[in-house]
Amino acid sequence: MLAGGAYPAMMALGLLKSAPAHAFNLEGTGKGKHVIILGGGLAGMTSAYELTKLGYQCTILEARQRAGGRCWSIRNGSTNLEIDKPMATAKFDEGQYFNAGPSRIPHHHELTLHYCKELGVPLQVYNNVNEGAYYFAEGKGPLSNKKIKVREVHNDIRGYMTEMLAKSIDHGSLDGSLTKEDGQRIIEYLQAEGGLDVDKFYKASARRGYTRIAGGGG
Ligand SMILES: Cc1cc2nc3c(=O)[nH]c(=O)nc-3n(C[C@H](O)[C@H](O)[C@H](O)COP(=O)(O)OP(=O)(O)OC[C@H]3O[C@@H](n4cnc5c(N)ncnc54)[C@H](O)[C@@H]3O)c2cc1C
Repeated sequence: MLAGGAYPAMMALGLLKSAPAHAFNLEGTGKGKHVIILGGGLAGMTSAYELTKLGYQCTILEARQRAGGRCWSIRNGSTNLEIDKPMATAKFDEGQYFNAGPSRIPHHHELTLHYCKELGVPLQVYNNVNEGAYYFAEGKGPLSNKKIKVREVHNDIRGYMTEMLAKSIDHGSLDGSLTKEDGQRIIEYLQAEGGLDVDKFYKASARRGYTRIAGGGG
């Protein structure tokens, strides 16, 4: 929470410099010098890339079988081996992939965007929220095995919940139309949605924001 909130807040207040928008302008010559870099993640590979421009001979020592470090797009046939587990192999349709590490490059990560441009890395638009997307759940129940728009789900939940609240105020007529099981399900939903505790009390939580505003001067 701190990293997510304090970092942009500090940049907005001018207490922290954002990443440079252009490549490092390193000077000097590395001719005849050999550098060993530990780790072939973004930092190691970028260091090698920039130092090579100055004439250094660079060798990256990477502990894993692949380069990229935490940056890892799993594609059909990608393998992963963890201690005490059998080798896992991804079985995806051709062209499908899953970013197991980073997937978002915010607009203010200008240095990363600079390298994407310089190295010709193709980028795709990333949607955090898409009300036009579909939910699809396999299994049992009246809503399973069909596509339902996120927008419809959100508005139906709001509509049905308010309908029930209106009925419950209207002379307890809710009791007549709810089974015990349905009532229990609704209580569970309300606890999750509203952040209620086990006794069904709402006590303000971190969901509503910081008690003390994060960032410099907060
Ligand atoms: C799940 C997840 C989601 C993320 N999402 C985002 C995102 O959306 N946007 C974003 O900007 N950032 C995101 N990040 C952060 C981002 O992935 C990292 O900041 C970045 O990849 C770090 O790069 P690095 O080169 O510093 O380290 P790493 O990628 O960790 O690279 C270190 C490398 O060094 C190797 N190594 C370690 N020790 C040795 C050794 N002794 N000898 C040899 N090799 C060694 C490791 O195997 C590894 O390959 C995410 C991270 C994770 C895990």
